[in-house]
Amino acid sequence: MSENAAENLRGVQNQIEKAAKAAGREASSVRLIAISKTFSADEIAPVIEAGQRLFGENRVQEAKAKWPELREKSSGIALHLVGPLQTNKVKEALSLFDAIHSLDRPKLAAELAKEIQKAGKSPQLFVQVNTGAEPQKAGVLPEETDAFIKECRETYSLEIAGLMCIPPLEEAPAPHFALAKKIAARNGLKLLSMGMSADFESAINLGATHVRVGSAIFGTRPKNI
Ligand SMILES: *Cc1c(COP(=O)(O)O)cnc(C)c1O
Repeated sequence: MSENAAENLRGVQNQIEKAAKAAGREASSVRLIAISKTFSADEIAPVIEAGQRLFGENRVQEAKAKWPELREKSSGIALHLVGPLQTNKVKEALSLFDAIHSLDRPKLAAELAKEIQKAGKSPQLFVQVNTGAEPQKAGVLPEETDAFIKECRETYSLEIAGLMCIPPLEEAPAPHFALAKKIAARNGLKLLSMGMSADFESAINLGATHVRVGSAIFGTRPKNI
């Protein structure tokens, strides 16, 4: 499948352009994050060659194994963490990632604040909202999100760039995207990380600024991760 990845990338770019146009938005207002989790450096390289510079991974260790070398070979690469972050990996995450999409608890906010201060630079931070209130899923509950953003800002002096959400698998995604958009708007947040391979067009229609697309570019993954 990965031989087709560059071609798939162009297809996804076209779909993004069409979805943006249909929503009356500039295509440039939507950033495509190519989610390369589980794919090897050899499978990622053709997508970099095809011009993609923004990538996402969901595990710190996996990113550490693959990306330093890939980054050395090409300029302008940005890497986003889209998976859960443990507090003991924060320092490492700050050295690897330009954005973190999974800020979802005070303990993590505190650790991020401490390490950001030490490092002297901050990644872009997205608060993850569990829009479907799914017990097994990470993220802040919708009704607790305003208070959590306030705590991040006031207690930890963190600059919050936006919200991220992953709608429940078995539900129509649009109401979840709409909810994330509403919470972002009332908190003055400009960025919305939402939409994956199956639903990025709907997310763009509802204001996504960052779509996270994996399998539509790289092919199906061996496991559901
Ligand atoms: C894996 C993953 C994606 C990409 O999913 P696809 O369905 O392959 O596009 C997006 N966001 C997160 C948080 C992920 O873990």
